Amino acid sequence: MAVMELSDEQTAVRNAVREFAREEIRPTALEADDEQEFPEEVWDGLAEMDLTGLTVPEEYGGYDAGPVTAAVVNEGVAYGMLAVATALSVHSLATSCISEFGSETQQDRWLPEMADGRPVGAFALSEPHAGSNPAEMSTRAKPDGDEYVIDGEKQWITNGERAGVYILFAKTDRDDPSTVTQFLVPGDVDGLIVGEKEDKLGLRASDTTSLTFDGVRIPAENRLTEEGAGLSAAFHILTGGRIAIAAQSVGLAQCALDEALAYSQERDQFGGPIADIQAIRHKLAEMATRVKAARLLTRDAARKRAAGGAALEASMAKYFASETAMFTTNEAVQIHGGYGYVTEGEVERLYRDAKITEIYEGTTEIQKQVIARELLE
Ligand SMILES: Cc1cc2nc3c(=O)[nH]c(=O)nc-3n(C[C@H](O)[C@H](O)[C@H](O)COP(=O)(O)OP(=O)(O)OC[C@H]3O[C@@H](n4cnc5c(N)ncnc54)[C@H](O)[C@@H]3O)c2cc1C
Repeated sequence: MAVMELSDEQTAVRNAVREFAREEIRPTALEADDEQEFPEEVWDGLAEMDLTGLTVPEEYGGYDAGPVTAAVVNEGVAYGMLAVATALSVHSLATSCISEFGSETQQDRWLPEMADGRPVGAFALSEPHAGSNPAEMSTRAKPDGDEYVIDGEKQWITNGERAGVYILFAKTDRDDPSTVTQFLVPGDVDGLIVGEKEDKLGLRASDTTSLTFDGVRIPAENRLTEEGAGLSAAFHILTGGRIAIAAQSVGLAQCALDEALAYSQERDQFGGPIADIQAIRHKLAEMATRVKAARLLTRDAARKRAAGGAALEASMAKYFASETAMFTTNEAVQIHGGYGYVTEGEVERLYRDAKITEIYEGTTEIQKQVIARELLE
């Protein structure tokens, strides 16, 4: 199949998500961003479309989308609002972890409900002192009979407040980096303290919080991987996550491009629309070319992922698409002039939202490190 070709089903999903983004997500975005409140009715709408079960197998009531369909959905939802797309992709990371590593009992217990949208899932890897290098984490899950006792702090956790289930990475021996292990922690356990929502530059409708684990006890059966197999599991899942962020960057950039195309034809200066001015036309041409290139890289990475490994392509796609989101939103603000700089317009939010795509799920510098490593190996 050619890189950009979609099946009939994928085309139908793309169209349905595009319509939902235009009709249901974008109209809520300004208020949700302003009030820093997640639009729960939009989440319920995604659940009705089966998209909260994107990475849940069909036998558990999920959509069971492959990487290409998931990329199409991520792009479409981010066209509506990045905060919603981020919440969905992190929920999908959590369901992926349970689908891929959970026991049948865990899958029976959690996946049908999560496919229906609630409980929301979160993915807790980063810590205050361990971001780009999660092997430096200090959260500990100490074995104690048929339980683990968890102590430590996680930082920057998307869906931190909304989640009812957390995928947690912790060391069974704090002094041994090779003991990182993956666990499932229900949201209602004693000793789990969810921090205040971070007050962020962008992505303001998404709840990003710290999590403090103070003597949290979970049964040993909540361990998702063998002791020590947690980091490789996290990196495997994050390869898919990076393709999702690349796709979201494309959706955000496309939204900025569409806004700029429309505005440049409406806004008159010097006796005609600014779209007649060569400097503006060149901006539009460059924006459109980069968005298309980013979409091609993202689809290519998704296809490679469907066929097996895709670490190189996922990092290339995330690196390029997130820079495209920054470039395109910056140019969209410029094309809107003063109207691009105020909060009533949409491009101001797109510009603020774009920055995070270069930071989370591996910064641009880390993506380049992965690309170089893959090239040189
Ligand atoms: C809004 C938001 C949501 C997030 N959601 C989640 C979530 O749901 N779950 C989760 O676990 N985490 C989440 N994160 C954390 C995110 O993944 C980390 O912020 C990111 O991995 C970077 O880690 P850091 O912030 O500790 O930066 P650091 O690792 O301290 O990096 C600081 C700077 O140094 C650079 N740097 C570090 N090491 C190297 C190197 N070896 N080579 C070159 N440059 C380097 C980085 O690129 C960066 O520019 C989120 C973060 C934000 C802001």
